Amino acid sequence: MGDDPCTLKELTEMIRDFVRERDWEQYNRPLNLAISTSIEVGELLELFQWKNEADIEVALNDERFREDLASEIADVLVYLLRVADTTGIDPTQAVIDKMKKNREKYPIDYWSGRAPSKFNRPE
Ligand SMILES: [Mg+2]
Repeated sequence: MGDDPCTLKELTEMIRDFVRERDWEQYNRPLNLAISTSIEVGELLELFQWKNEADIEVALNDERFREDLASEIADVLVYLLRVADTTGIDPTQAVIDKMKKNREKYPIDYWSGRAPSKFNRPE
C-alpha cells in the first residue's frame, strides 16, 4: 500500500459533507447505518462465495474482480465511518484501544502460529 492520500478524519468529513449536501442526515441514524454496514459486508462476502483458495487467487488477478472488491470495501468503510461519526466514536482511537486489548488477550508467546479460534484458547 502506498501513502494514504488522506486520514480517517478527512474521509469522515468528506462523507459527512456528501450526506449533508443531500439532506440525508435524517436517514443516517446509527441503527440504519449499522444495518447498511452489515448489508455491505454481505456484498463483500458474496464476491468470495463458492470460491476456493485457488479461485480467489485467480480472481485477485482479475481487474473487474478487483474493482468490485475495492467498491465493496469502500461501501463497508463508508457506512462504518458514518456509524462512528453519528455516535461520536473516534474510529482511530477505537482501533488503537482495541489493538492494545488484543495484544493483552493474545500474547505472542502462546498465540504465535495458532489461529485465533476459541477452540485454541489456553486451558
Ligand atoms: Mg455494495
